Amino acid sequence: LHPRWREEVRERLRDVGEGTLEHPRYGTSFLLTGEVEDNRKVHHLLLFPSFSAVEELEELFSSKTEDLKREGRPHVDLSPPEVAEAALSVGCLVGPSHAFTPWTSMYKEFNSLKECYADLADRIVFLELGLSADTYMADRISELSRLTFLSNSDSHSPWPERLGREFNRFGIEEPTFEEVRRALERRGGRCVLLNVGFDPRLGKYHRTACSRCFKQFGLERAKELGWRCNDCGGWIKKGVWDRVNELADLPEPLSPPHRPPYLRVAPLAEILALGMGAEVRDPRVRESWRKLVERFGSEIEVLVDAPPEEIGEVVGRELSELILAFRKQELKVFPGGGGRYGRLELPPHLSKKMGQRTLGDFT
Ligand SMILES: [Zn+2]
Ligand SMILES: [Zn+2]
Repeated sequence: LHPRWREEVRERLRDVGEGTLEHPRYGTSFLLTGEVEDNRKVHHLLLFPSFSAVEELEELFSSKTEDLKREGRPHVDLSPPEVAEAALSVGCLVGPSHAFTPWTSMYKEFNSLKECYADLADRIVFLELGLSADTYMADRISELSRLTFLSNSDSHSPWPERLGREFNRFGIEEPTFEEVRRALERRGGRCVLLNVGFDPRLGKYHRTACSRCFKQFGLERAKELGWRCNDCGGWIKKGVWDRVNELADLPEPLSPPHRPPYLRVAPLAEILALGMGAEVRDPRVRESWRKLVERFGSEIEVLVDAPPEEIGEVVGRELSELILAFRKQELKVFPGGGGRYGRLELPPHLSKKMGQRTLGDFT
């Protein structure tokens, strides 16, 4: 919604109609999306059919916020149903962003979709899982079974390894707003075919933890302490894991037939950094990352499909073994919490070989 972003998009991309923009050189297609915060500090994800819809919504919000020219994600003085009503009235798709996180999400504030969106709950067709949750966690909450899940990167920083760290594979004819709408509504054979996202333990808010020193707590202990850390006095933030357990009405995930698989991944650069005992932004890590992506075409190809021998030819056998260990889910995960990302650790059989290395936080 910020006018500078719109200028940027207009300058650099070509409008090819149907709400789709295209990069003139790379041919990558883009849709217009945005996020707003309502008066309960709940974040909503918006998908716009056109620039004119963005302008219409800006007009509707303009008397309710001072933020439009200040913030990429404006705070508007409207309730959740009022935000949804405004968005729907200009033809947007709207739904909860990172729905379980402890600061700014639907489920930190409400116990159900209905409580949040009131009479408009039925018109919400998707939910964004966020980095600290996955399909299997969300499918323990039966009210979500009719919704389409989105696994989006929610990248707010300029670091390239954050872009596309989560993504969705759509079964659509062409990358237009209407086709994406059909996919989210699961009409005409359109659908989301695959959600690809973090192992939720790698997310920043997976476990209940202190937001200052990141000490982790069980839910009961956090309650006993009145949500204040007994080490540093900082606020304890409820983890997505504990929040989902509170909300869950099913003991085990029960995915509806329309639910696509969720593929758990980690950023390739993080895995390489772990194997090399270096920081993610170390030039050697970046160089190996670049070589692999150039050779196999994409990060996901390297993480999921590329033959280990061929990976070995590019970056050596140790790193190819590490990627294989990742595929077999042999890497240990120290869960994130309180605003700090989780981290990967070497499994015993590799840490002997590679020396005892642990990766610092993803920052
Ligand atoms: Zn947000
Ligand atoms: Zn603390």
